[in-house]
Amino acid sequence: MSSSIPPTGGFDGSEPCGQPDTGKPLSMAETTTFRGDDHPALVAAALACRVCLSGEVEWALEVGDFEGQVHCRCLNCGHRRVVSLTSDQTLRLSLHREEQLEVA
Ligand SMILES: [Zn+2]
Repeated sequence: MSSSIPPTGGFDGSEPCGQPDTGKPLSMAETTTFRGDDHPALVAAALACRVCLSGEVEWALEVGDFEGQVHCRCLNCGHRRVVSLTSDQTLRLSLHREEQLEVA
């Protein structure tokens, strides 16, 4: 099962504070920019593939104690990435689990 996830060396979601440490060597996780009340299209765009820009991305939300992260896999080119989420973003995506993001 774990072979489907890139070897990041371990992200345990226990950041001491909400401030992302830029250039942290051990983490491959990216951050994203949408807000908790952004339009669904912006949320979808934030999850879109960075390699081929496809919006056809399969994602799985991982919710931590406070923040979360989302594992994205591009259905077009197969690129995988992990995006760190703030609590607002985590909440927003958790709401979207029930209603699929509509990618126009
Ligand atoms: Zn892609």
